[in-house]
Amino acid sequence: MKKHKVTVVGAGHVGATAGQRIAEAGLADVVLVDIVEGLAKGKALDISEAAPIMKHDCGLTGTSDYADTADSEIVVFTGGLARKPGMSRDDLVKANFKIIKSCVESAMKYSPNAMIIMVTNPLDVMAYTALKVSGLPKNKVIGMAGILDTGRFRSFVAEELNVSVENVFAFVLGGHGDDMVPLTRYSYVAGIPLEDLLSKEKLDAIVKRTRGGGGEIVKYLQTGSAYYAPAAAIYEMVEAILLDRHKILPCSAYLEGEYGQNDVFVGVPCKLGADGLEQIMEIKLSSDELALFAESAGHVKQTVETLDL
Ligand code: NAD
Repeated sequence: MKKHKVTVVGAGHVGATAGQRIAEAGLADVVLVDIVEGLAKGKALDISEAAPIMKHDCGLTGTSDYADTADSEIVVFTGGLARKPGMSRDDLVKANFKIIKSCVESAMKYSPNAMIIMVTNPLDVMAYTALKVSGLPKNKVIGMAGILDTGRFRSFVAEELNVSVENVFAFVLGGHGDDMVPLTRYSYVAGIPLEDLLSKEKLDAIVKRTRGGGGEIVKYLQTGSAYYAPAAAIYEMVEAILLDRHKILPCSAYLEGEYGQNDVFVGVPCKLGADGLEQIMEIKLSSDELALFAESAGHVKQTVETLDL
């Protein structure tokens, strides 16, 4: 059977780790693309030299040439800049917009039918950029964020209650990071509503820690940001699509009327399978939750308006 092919653009911390997880799970051959060719080549070689030990036969290619990415089924975009001292958030948006626009154009030239998983920040804005630049239908462009946010939330809840992480189910909507809208009333531990198990104070503290989860790690690392958990979240999306699992996961999706929003990418529960985003699950929100969601979507729209799209 022919192997799946996944390209990861950006062979930095997140991209290379995602490539490693995908290959080591035996899911697909992986092409790592980076503007720094040696980085992509070196990391691909290093990961592939572990293949006999990790017991898989997935190939890894490192390159700067998009011709090597031809006929990929999924292209994951993690390339871009991190904010440097003196750089405003707006400067960063403009810089990453330029990078993502040109990377999407190059990748689509060789894999016009691929699905896109966007990871580069600001995530919802870059996913919107990819949709418009690629001309792909909305089921083929999905952003990664909510799986990471819920992963953080679930791990903190499991730690607090001293239960397996597998017992904790959590729900978030909205933009990535500060803007996320955690729905604790839709969160459960082995079927038991989370709000029956934790006090409001404890829950609020966990929500706060989840919102700042990225920042907590940056503070420790000092020179970079989280990548193991983000790479795991990318892996879960790739797996759901390639194995056609019809799995419901919180992802950033293009909304056309769902949750009262139009023409914007925001985090919502998505069913992922072989057709990419197969369905956006709509759940009933309270007026407070809807207001928070609308505020979050509004922030994404404001940023999109500053771009030349
Ligand atoms: P990193 O700096 O380690 O890697 C970025 C890579 O992109 C570098 O290797 C760089 O050379 C490459 N690059 C830059 N311009 C490029 C271009 N034009 N073409 C190809 N490659 C190019 O950063 P990282 O820690 O891997 O993070 C990558 C991105 O993912 C950042 O934007 C970060 O904010 C974002 N991120 C998002 C989430 C999420 O939840 N969506 C989580 C973590 C990180």
